[in-house]
This record gives sequence, C-alpha cells and structure tokens, in this order.
Amino acid sequence: MYDIVIVGAGPAGLTAAIYARRAEKKVLVLEANTYGGQIISTLDIENYPCERHISGFDFATKLYNQAKDLGAEIVFEKVVDIKDGKEKEVFTTNNSYKTKTVILATGSFNRKLGLEKEEKFIGKGISYCATCDGAFFKEKSVAVAGGGNTALEDALYLSDIAKKVYVIHRRDTFRGSEKTFNELTKKDNVIFVYNSNVCKLNGTDKLESIDVKDNNGNVATIDIEGLFVAIGRIPENRVFSKLIDLDEYGYAKALEDCHTNVEGIFVAGDNRVKSLRQLVTATSDGGVAATEAIKYINNCSNK
Ligand code: NAP
Repeated sequence: MYDIVIVGAGPAGLTAAIYARRAEKKVLVLEANTYGGQIISTLDIENYPCERHISGFDFATKLYNQAKDLGAEIVFEKVVDIKDGKEKEVFTTNNSYKTKTVILATGSFNRKLGLEKEEKFIGKGISYCATCDGAFFKEKSVAVAGGGNTALEDALYLSDIAKKVYVIHRRDTFRGSEKTFNELTKKDNVIFVYNSNVCKLNGTDKLESIDVKDNNGNVATIDIEGLFVAIGRIPENRVFSKLIDLDEYGYAKALEDCHTNVEGIFVAGDNRVKSLRQLVTATSDGGVAATEAIKYINNCSNK
C-alpha cells in the first residue's frame, strides 16, 4: 500500500514526490511517456527563480533525479482508471496499485486544428513544438498558427532559423505578450496574416502548402514546408472525468489547496483550474498537493 500515488512525472508531479518523500511517505509516480512533461521541449527557461538559463530537458532531468534520490519510485506505465474508496486503487495498462491518496498531475496536451491530413503530416511538415523541430526548417518557409504566447514565441524562435515565417491568427490582435509581439514586428522575415484560419493542408506525402481563409471567406494558398500549430493545450483529465469534477474546459475544479471534490484525491499543475499555467505554478502546486495529501494521511491515521 502506497501513501501517495502521483499520476504524471512533470514538474508538478515530481515536486509533489520530493515533498512527500521528505515527509517519509511511501511514494509511487506513474508516467505514461517520458519524465518532464511539456517543459522537456523548451529550449531555454529563463523565468524560473534562480535559474537564469536552463534547458527544459536539463531542468526535468535534475527534478527527476532529485525525486529518485529522495526515494520516490517512478514507474513508466499509463494510468487507465482510478477506483475511489477509503483505500484507492490506481490501474495502469499492466498493473494496479493500492494507495491512501492520489495526486493527479497529468498536465495538458496540444490542441489540434482538426484538419484532414493533420495526423498524417506530423513529422512531415506539421509540428506542435518549434524548439523541438524548428532546426529542420533552416532557410525554409514556415507558418505558425495561433495568437497566444506560444505562437508568438515560436514565431520569434523560427524567425532566426527559417527564411520566412507566416503568423496566422484568427483575430486582429494577439493575446500573447506585447514585448514578444514588438520584437516580432522588427523581423523582416515575419509576415502577419490576421483574421484568418488555416483551412486546408496540401501535399501528398508531406506538407507543401496551406490554404488560409479570411473572415470574408477569401482563400489564399501559402507555400510552406512547415506548419507549427500553437493554438493552446487541452487538460489531460479524460481518464478522471467520471471521478472528479471538471469545469467546462475539462480542467479539474480545485482551489489553491489542490483538493478535488473527492476526499484523498488532489490535483496539481496545468490540469487544474488556475489563472497562470507556468513552471513556477506547477511546481508550487506539487508542493501544496503533497502537503495536503500528507495532512490527510496523518489525520486519517490519528482517527
Ligand atoms: P493560449 O494562450 O490558449 O492561446 C491559444 C491561441 O490559439 C489563441 O490565440 C486562440 O485564439 C488560438 N486558437 C485556439 N483554438 C484555435 C483554433 N481551433 N484555430 C485557430 N486558432 C485557435 O495558448 P498558448 O499560447 O499555448 O499558452 C498557454 C498558456 O501558457 C498561456 O497562459 C500562456 O500565457 C502561457 N505561456 C507562457 C509563456 C511565457 O510566459 N513565456 C510561453 C508560452 C505559453 P483566440 O485568441 O481567438 O482564443
């Protein structure tokens, strides 16, 4: 029987593991993919306190090693179900684990455009991560779809690599940072395409061009070899949708104490309702969720 099973080995989950191990709790972290979560694809982090510059991979590896060195068990298995009760049971594709508490730290995944050939062209012109795949498009024409911080930062990053960068946004103003937008406007090779949506992906074996439709219904074809889709992320709460309360966008309902509506089940990181989804708030959630889980376990054993 574990004290705490943590679902997800991103910054929130691994920080929760560190806090729980320092309180001598028996901790299992379950991760479906690789450790680190979405931060692993960030080239350079410069907004985390005391780390002036660090790559996402190095950050995640340090965190992973810290949790492991403190005695957290980390197992790479996909969680498929959780059974609630005084004792909870977490089911993976291979095993099941009994635990007193669960922390859901599953983060979020990329929103897709939903266009025909989008899946087929992943790795053949379609990417969801400029810092991962940008280098493949040296001196080529690319486009970024989206209007948030990710889209602006991706465009800025790509503008130093690619020949041309089209930024395609469905509105006439961006919701991302003004500073990044201003930097982008100074780039000669960045072209803004406002009030428009990518409506078709063209090519046989790989992406060759995109059709872009403006709000008046006019369609233009843009020749590009790479399209970076940066239209936001979706919380990874599908497995828990019947277990805990989610909001209309699929985020787990929880306040700053990270309690879900189910006793002994906590949520930490990007899959929780919150106003700022950043590394610093994910790690913060990890600390809070673990501390609340520890209190819950200690209260139960004192009863
Ligand atoms: P986001 O802020 O949710 O922006 C998504 C953008 O995609 C919006 O402009 C949205 O348009 C557009 N969009 C959504 N669905 C679309 C569709 N089907 N077709 C076309 N466009 C669509 O997502 P994000 O940029 O990934 O950022 C997520 C969070 O991380 C934000 O809080 C962001 O500030 C933060 N972030 C911070 C940093 C940083 O601080 N350095 C870096 C990256 C991300 P509308 O505007 O019309 O809704």
